[in-house]
Amino acid sequence: MQASETNKQLVNSDIIKDLEDAVLGGVRRNVLMRDLSWYKIGGNADVVVEPDSTLSAAAVMRCLKKHNALFTVIGTASNILFDDAGYRGVLIKIADNNFNKLSFEDGGIVRAGAGLWVPHYVRNIIQLGLEGCVHAIGIPGALGGLIIMNGGSQRKGIGDQLVDVTIVDKDGEVRVLKQAECEFGYRSSALQRMGCIVTGATFRYARGDKGKLHNEALNLLVERGKKFPRKLPSCGSVFLSYPEMYEIIGPPGKAIEDLGFKGKIRGGAQISPLHANFIVNTGDAKAMDVLFLIHECRSAIMKKSGFDLKCEVRFLPSDGELRQAHLQADKLYRDL
Ligand SMILES: Cc1cc2nc3c(=O)[nH]c(=O)nc-3n(C[C@H](O)[C@H](O)[C@H](O)COP(=O)(O)OP(=O)(O)OC[C@H]3O[C@@H](n4cnc5c(N)ncnc54)[C@H](O)[C@@H]3O)c2cc1C
Repeated sequence: MQASETNKQLVNSDIIKDLEDAVLGGVRRNVLMRDLSWYKIGGNADVVVEPDSTLSAAAVMRCLKKHNALFTVIGTASNILFDDAGYRGVLIKIADNNFNKLSFEDGGIVRAGAGLWVPHYVRNIIQLGLEGCVHAIGIPGALGGLIIMNGGSQRKGIGDQLVDVTIVDKDGEVRVLKQAECEFGYRSSALQRMGCIVTGATFRYARGDKGKLHNEALNLLVERGKKFPRKLPSCGSVFLSYPEMYEIIGPPGKAIEDLGFKGKIRGGAQISPLHANFIVNTGDAKAMDVLFLIHECRSAIMKKSGFDLKCEVRFLPSDGELRQAHLQADKLYRDL
């Protein structure tokens, strides 16, 4: 039996058989992660599981617990850099065709599945004349990933209007957590530490003016179209950009640009010439290339200002736990 870096069990035939019993038809083997990820980077995952109900998600979690198996939950992988060597654990995917129900009640109450595509979700909320999530209109990803990351723009996060979230925990228990229990912070939440599957959430939005909300969304999309690279694959902002750091180094994109790093290339990866907080895949980038550029930016900023730049983007090692990408970059390149 092979164990991972974290003493978890790597995928084997017993795990696959039990997963196939738990999720009929929802188990795929040897899936090229490059095809799952926004970065278009990554080797083969041994197994990808797509549960289609909370019950099957619970069965998956019980199976993983029984085998003490290594696993990671993903949405559309718009914030994850996969390993060139693939993944020897179980990838649980909540996006696209599963968990995509959406319903509305009086009082601005919205119940939404974690697999919903975020721009589609936001458009539906605007259509109802409800305000509070327009800021997320241009964010590619599934709602579950957005909740876990407390993603958003314009200094807002999706957790602001969240009432509760439904999860399947590591024991396979279905639980409903109130907003306070999620401990939402800047691009962070307590959910990240729980290793759970988010299956859905309830939000409460205030009534707004539909026309105004439409215009706001349109302006935001135009703004983002001008500011951010759109043609080449990326994972959005590489480094966390929280207001408290602005007084020390300014926004990370500007700080990296001031180093003269815009356009810097390593293999197939490039610090975007358009926005220096984006690292784009120019065609055949490897995870190693992206991690190298992350290391270069971090060490130059550290040298210049003593500031420890941290990543928003996550890295998934082939036999380990998901982590902020700079932790992997440090591990690989610290001694250069
Ligand atoms: C071009 C571009 C622009 C972007 N702009 C923004 C932006 O403006 N603001 C912003 O906040 N982000 C932005 N992002 C980053 C990314 O889109 C968000 O973080 C998004 O919410 C991630 O959703 P996802 O479904 O892709 O999650 P993934 O990338 O698949 O996963 C992200 C995290 O959530 C966890 N996760 C995902 N789904 C679940 C689930 N159902 N249950 C439990 N855990 C789960 C994963 O384990 C991982 O820790 C951008 C990305 C790109 C490529």
